[in-house]
Amino acid sequence: EKFNLTELVEQIVDRLQKNACRTQVLKPNLDSDVMIYADKFAISNVVTNLIENAIKYSPPCANVVVKLTNEEHGIIFSVADHGIGISDVEKKLIFNKFYRVGSEATRKTKGTGLGLYIVKTVLQKHNASIKVKDNTPSGSIFEVTFDKNAK
Ligand code: ATP
Ligand code: MG
Repeated sequence: EKFNLTELVEQIVDRLQKNACRTQVLKPNLDSDVMIYADKFAISNVVTNLIENAIKYSPPCANVVVKLTNEEHGIIFSVADHGIGISDVEKKLIFNKFYRVGSEATRKTKGTGLGLYIVKTVLQKHNASIKVKDNTPSGSIFEVTFDKNAK
């Protein structure tokens, strides 16, 4: 199914906005909305999970930046936070089913550890990839790449 990813991301950010006082959506190099071929329901789940995590693992009302860009190698959707961050060892484990980081900061929050497992499973089915890196000066960035030619 072909759908408008820009519109979907903006709707989800609006819905989650009350929790994060300053979630911003940036579209630095897009002059029109991004259309992708994917399962809309599954992709809304991915977008929601990543933004919810960014909010949940950050101080209340922290700045979260959601970005959509059009690159040569694909459509990039990213979510950047300045929250508790993820160590290099944990970066390899967080996509596992039921995995939650054992830190005190994580234990203060509630969760099943399924969110990122579902994200990874959905993206694999869509030939899309996800990577996680450190934000500066602190926090994390989750970056999803959608294949532009997928049908
Ligand atoms: P839920 O099933 O409700 O999403 P969860 O948020 O604990 O529960 P995941 O979304 O799969 O589960 O995330 C797995 C773990 O990865 C989290 O428990 C947390 O330790 C870590 N994590 C995920 N996103 C972030 C983030 N943005 N910053 C810091 N740690 C994170
Ligand atoms: Mg989660």
